[in-house]
Amino acid sequence: MSNLRFKVVEEAFKKRPVEVATPAERPSEYFAKYVFNQEKMFKYLPLKTYKRLREAIEQGTPLPMSVADEVAQGMKQWAMSMGVTHCTHWFQPLTEGTAEKHDAFLEHDWKGGMIEAFSGKELVQQEPDASSFPNGGIRSTFEARGYSAWDPASPVFIIGDTLMIPTVFISYTGEALDYKAPLKKALAAVDKAATAVAKYFNEDVTRVTANLGWEQEYFLVDEGLYAARPDLLLTGRTLMGHESSKNQQMEDHYFGAIPERVAEFMRDLEIQALELGIPCKTRHNEVAPNQFELAPIFEECNLAVDHNMLLMSLMRNVARKHGFRCLLHEKPFAGINGSGKHNNWSLTTDTGIILHAPGKTPEDALRFITFVVETLMGVYRHNGLLKASIMSATNAHRLGANEAPPAIISSFLGKQVSELLDRVEHSTTDELFAMEGKHGVKLDIPQIPELMIDNTDRNRTSPFAFTGNRFEFRAVGSIANCASAMIALNTAVAEALTDFKMRVDARIAAGASKVCAILDTLREDIKTCKPIRFDGNGYSDEWKEEAQRRGLDCETSCPVIFDRYLDEASVDMFEKMNVMHRHELEARNEIKWETYYKKIQIESRVLGDLCMNHIIPVATKYQSVLADNVHKLQAAFSDPAKVKELTAYNITLIEKINKHTSFIADNVEAMVEKRKVVNKNEDVRTLAVAYHDEVAPYLDAIRYHIDKLELIVEDDMWTLPKYRELLFIR
Ligand code: ADP
Ligand code: MG
Repeated sequence: MSNLRFKVVEEAFKKRPVEVATPAERPSEYFAKYVFNQEKMFKYLPLKTYKRLREAIEQGTPLPMSVADEVAQGMKQWAMSMGVTHCTHWFQPLTEGTAEKHDAFLEHDWKGGMIEAFSGKELVQQEPDASSFPNGGIRSTFEARGYSAWDPASPVFIIGDTLMIPTVFISYTGEALDYKAPLKKALAAVDKAATAVAKYFNEDVTRVTANLGWEQEYFLVDEGLYAARPDLLLTGRTLMGHESSKNQQMEDHYFGAIPERVAEFMRDLEIQALELGIPCKTRHNEVAPNQFELAPIFEECNLAVDHNMLLMSLMRNVARKHGFRCLLHEKPFAGINGSGKHNNWSLTTDTGIILHAPGKTPEDALRFITFVVETLMGVYRHNGLLKASIMSATNAHRLGANEAPPAIISSFLGKQVSELLDRVEHSTTDELFAMEGKHGVKLDIPQIPELMIDNTDRNRTSPFAFTGNRFEFRAVGSIANCASAMIALNTAVAEALTDFKMRVDARIAAGASKVCAILDTLREDIKTCKPIRFDGNGYSDEWKEEAQRRGLDCETSCPVIFDRYLDEASVDMFEKMNVMHRHELEARNEIKWETYYKKIQIESRVLGDLCMNHIIPVATKYQSVLADNVHKLQAAFSDPAKVKELTAYNITLIEKINKHTSFIADNVEAMVEKRKVVNKNEDVRTLAVAYHDEVAPYLDAIRYHIDKLELIVEDDMWTLPKYRELLFIR
């Protein structure tokens, strides 16, 4: 290891011992310590106010200002008892993170002093100057304000000395500038549509909630090594680095013993997450070296999204305390697995039934089939859009590579459920059920034991797999806000269920019995959505051809995939389901394209700089050492044959180095020239497509030669930490 690199690693290692706060209490005692949850509402609010707030939370009704004032007083009292001095609205703009602006609990007392104050107005609404957030042109410059409004369904929490109030973020003209506003609308749409359909099976259902259980994958690297890699620092991924001789080929990391230093980090992280009400449950080593996963127990979708955003920021902070950097990029290292964030999703009724779980009776089975089939219908009709919802410059590296689902959305159901759907499709309604006098309907649908279905053969290659009582949307990226995928999925399923109900009701109106109407409609849909069902190997080339034949969206270019948001079918769906309007979708696409091209632009600049300042100078220096040696040998021996023999190897190396450095120099120059040409485009989509088609290919081409040089140049001279150092925590 080079002297410089060695020092960096040692520094990182010295930082290692960390005092981990180990609370004396059990997790059940400190869980949600920093959350203004139901228990604290009850304790700190007058009973009447408590009831009004619960009502607003449960029914999604607005909170009158007089009530908000009383809620604010209770919250302030609780917060101050916890040492809090500031508050902020906490929202999710269309960037990768969250946003906050802290205000102290302070007001003039108008007697020359100050008092601690926090009003209902401050709780409910603030007006951040939002012109600096991505808005895709929604906000014209003369109207710079947006406003953030508290979402009472998202509990308020404390970080350090600050009370964090989760809010939606919208423009003054009402357009969403964030993820939460459309997510809430999508959840309302799926609630409405699913409740109406669930009522066919149980009149008592009045509300359906979407559940989300995400599984967060991430990498850890030593802080010092990270600091010595400008590419990691500036782009979140390594733009170069030869594969380590040993990486994940021994399959010895997955579920392996967690290294002590990492276990300390995990413990610390989990305690802090639990204190914030995030129900952490599972932790383990992932497939790649230095790759890990954390999964909480599933929660209501909106809350789960908040919790994931919160967790990602906690992870970054806690990692630094432990001398690590937490990498959430989907593909920080080439040649080994990238990171995803499986989104486990299902619908539950307020009567306590998971609509995607098989249940016990044949009637349950019909309900189960209905919700599985209509989910598939949503996914089938909008498979291109769903892909767009998870696509980004960073996730593009993972999809289509040989470790993650391809850039084609399909659904794996497993043998049992597939056979069940086939049976419904191929039998007549008469065959499936017989009227049994006053006992009602008897369905001849095979029983699906709940336990067995939970053990269905897992298909790891499917982007949208059924796993027993839920679907697992696996294509979501590790750094993504889950809301993007959840907005598209819940809206698509809401549309499918609405459409289903319309057709069932029409059949009933025409005289069919309810069960007949449901079965006939399902049979139609099972046939229609068949192309989305695929239980085979999603990584195979045959599947790509087959998917094309089936008419599934097979586009692989990230900026072109974003077009799916503006397809008539998508706009129509979002508008009909009251989630987003066309101009909101257009504005959001502007942001996606802009983000895309800027990311590639930054990568291209960083790579160019590193080539010119690190790679070429280092390789040339080594080349001079070799040349010097050749020169000295020539001076030392007079026999030309002998000289030739002695210098042959080094001369070959000198030539090789030259070949690589020339390629790099020429291509960096060409890449810079290309950027200049491409940057002239004013239309942001054209710009994004050009960066994808014309600039990005240089990154891989140049990298190939850098990685070859890394193998040739003397280890001591190479300035950048190598994969074999970055990937193995000591
Ligand atoms: P894996 O898929 O790796 O086997 P788990 O079985 O631990 O992982 O589950 C992953 C996530 O799925 C967890 O967050 C879990 O709470 C969540 N989950 C379990 N059942 C459901 C459900 N019905 N709906 C949504 N999420 C669920
Ligand atoms: Mg899973």
